[in-house]
Amino acid sequence: MSFVNENNPKILIDLDKCTGCLNCQLICSFTYHDIFNPALARIRIERTVDDDKGASFTDECLQCSICADYCVYGALSRTEVK
Ligand code: SF4
Ligand code: SF4
Repeated sequence: MSFVNENNPKILIDLDKCTGCLNCQLICSFTYHDIFNPALARIRIERTVDDDKGASFTDECLQCSICADYCVYGALSRTEVK
């Protein structure tokens, strides 16, 4: 089921398609901090040991949607045409 997070209504999230690759977190941190460090990303993908998944955006998210462009599995998609 797809949903949006209130901090970024421009991206639809479909966790059924998410593999946990963290490409989204890596590209966000590289874009805004010039370093590949998932901990600095403004999107957060979480997985529990029971394989439950979650996704959220921090208050610092600029809604640029670059992370969605780098989600090759289709778990993140723009709600608006570029
Ligand atoms: S890039 Fe897509 S598939 Fe990979 S962790 Fe992020 S949302 Fe999930
Ligand atoms: S929309 Fe932009 S700022 Fe927000 S998490 Fe994605 S890449 Fe980072």
